[in-house]
Amino acid sequence: MTTTEAEKVDVLICGSGSAGLCAAVWLARFGVNYRILERRDGPLKTGQADGVQTRTVEIFDSFGIAEELLREAYHVLEVAFWAPDPRDPGEIARTRYAADKETAISHQPHVILNQARLNALMTGLLGPEPPVEYGCEVREVRVDDGAAAEDPDAYAVTVTAVKDGVERTYRAKYVLGCDGAHSTVRRSLGFKMVGDSSDAVWGVMDVYPRTDFPDIRKKCVINSAAGSILVVPREGDALVRLYTELPAGTRVADVSLEGLQAHARRVFGGRYPLDFAETAWWSAYSIGQRLADRFHRAHRVFLTGDACHTHSPKAGQGMNVSLQDGHNVGWKLGMVLRRLARPDVLLPTYVLERERTAADLIDFDRAFARLFDSRYRRENHVSPRDVADHFVRAGRYTAGQAVRYDPSVITAATPSSSSSSSSVASGLTVGMAFRSAQVVRFCDAKAMQLVKGMPANGQWYLVVFAGDLARPESAARLREVTRSLERIAYRFTPPGADPDSVIDRILVLASDRKTVEQDEIPAFFTPVTGKRGMKCLTKVFADEESYNSGHGHAYEAYGVHPERGALVVVRPDHYVSKIASLDEADSLEQFFEGFMIPQRT
Ligand SMILES: Cc1cc2nc3c(=O)[nH]c(=O)nc-3n(C[C@H](O)[C@H](O)[C@H](O)COP(=O)(O)OP(=O)(O)OC[C@H]3O[C@@H](n4cnc5c(N)ncnc54)[C@H](O)[C@@H]3O)c2cc1C
Repeated sequence: MTTTEAEKVDVLICGSGSAGLCAAVWLARFGVNYRILERRDGPLKTGQADGVQTRTVEIFDSFGIAEELLREAYHVLEVAFWAPDPRDPGEIARTRYAADKETAISHQPHVILNQARLNALMTGLLGPEPPVEYGCEVREVRVDDGAAAEDPDAYAVTVTAVKDGVERTYRAKYVLGCDGAHSTVRRSLGFKMVGDSSDAVWGVMDVYPRTDFPDIRKKCVINSAAGSILVVPREGDALVRLYTELPAGTRVADVSLEGLQAHARRVFGGRYPLDFAETAWWSAYSIGQRLADRFHRAHRVFLTGDACHTHSPKAGQGMNVSLQDGHNVGWKLGMVLRRLARPDVLLPTYVLERERTAADLIDFDRAFARLFDSRYRRENHVSPRDVADHFVRAGRYTAGQAVRYDPSVITAATPSSSSSSSSVASGLTVGMAFRSAQVVRFCDAKAMQLVKGMPANGQWYLVVFAGDLARPESAARLREVTRSLERIAYRFTPPGADPDSVIDRILVLASDRKTVEQDEIPAFFTPVTGKRGMKCLTKVFADEESYNSGHGHAYEAYGVHPERGALVVVRPDHYVSKIASLDEADSLEQFFEGFMIPQRT
């Protein structure tokens, strides 16, 4: 085989699925030199996963691509539960409806859109010529442990791939194994998947159904005497996905479209005849609940997504958790390669945070899977009502909003003083996603979600709840806090860079906006930025009634008392990193020193 000379790249992403593309979006934003190798001939065209958790919608929103997603997607608002009709157990009857999501879980909805389209939206953020090498198959990954330990800048990982029959060699500082359930990267490093030995086989069909079943445009959990089906309406008002767990012992190779359709007809029963006008896509795939025994090698190669965790699709987690792995590691590599953070401290947090998330997912999935197992339900006297209750209770988890990272150098859970810092913002939890609330922008009276003012460009956010500036104590305290924050942000920002490019700032007032003048707001919150050197006016907000969109009650939602105020440090991925009282502003310097590299004295 012909070979080419080794090419050097800072980050090599193996696989352009959900995890790889999401990591790539960050790397593109940080201006890092990266490349994606993808075995397929071109972008994913159709099929695979489709459920988009509220947390994933929030991520898309932070990247600026949620509008397309929300416009195109099916919005899941209600779930219908169906079970054998007690009067005629061969037929099904609706047992109840439930809201798909409690309002407090997220300001974003749970939606359905095919994975190919989600991938395309992320690819669209990679620039006019995304650096994806299609038709390029990774064959081997080797790490030079000595070089990796000695020199942080070493191209310590060698990847061999084949494209058009020609062998290519890449030398990279970091490699992401985003190459799915049958990961070559994982195998090449000798890591193993540990867990269930038997894989359940799932059938999935995207169909245009002809039926009188009344809930065909709603998400439904159907547990009938003939088996279980999950109905998931799709984008475009006509297409519907049907998920079926096939009987134990079924082999993927034996599954046929006709068989899946016949099974679906049996589950819907005689009362609701089901016909298929067209089948847009179908697949059968086997999934075991498994976890990789290692997630990294020398903190130079990291596994993400299906390459390190697989489980059933029942709770719609696979694509989301995978994408969120890429989301977690991407900004960390970006900071390290821009020399803003220490690799030895920041990169291990990927493993700490996502290994635990994956292990929790496997446990969750095991319990959730039983609800769909008719034999388990029968033997353990699980009633249709129990199934529905469990489904509703699991709502926060399935929305992706239950993830809570353990204390670490970037999630400082322990209050730094006796003032019990976390209670100054009791609506937030360190290690969990920063929730949003509606506020009114100071400069133009626009009612908006606070997170809209915190785009994901790689910077950290200091969110200052300063209270009411009409109170002289609050105004004086804000001036004092600002002096500390200004010094800290300056210290970690490279000379010549915009002052808000590493540590950004957001001010939320509990004041009557119309009584506050711009010159009462410290200049720290209106930094001069961008190529035109203009004052940025979009970082100051008030918690008040808007003209046309009601009141967001943000202080109440965040659990902040206007007279006490609070200081919240939010990571680039919008997880809460630290909560402090306003008199603890100085302590943030030590916190950032824990993982960032000071750029100036
Ligand atoms: C056929 C199928 C159907 C599925 N259906 C559903 C579903 O209905 N619902 C659901 O929730 N989940 C479903 N899943 C699972 C879901 O798609 C995954 O959990 C999710 O895509 C994981 O994202 P990922 O980025 O880790 O991996 P993937 O999205 O699998 O991406 C991995 C990428 O790596 C590429 N790749 C693999 N090996 C190499 C190599 N050696 N060199 C270069 N590139 C390589 C692949 O071509 C692929 O593009 C399905 C998965 C499959 C495979």
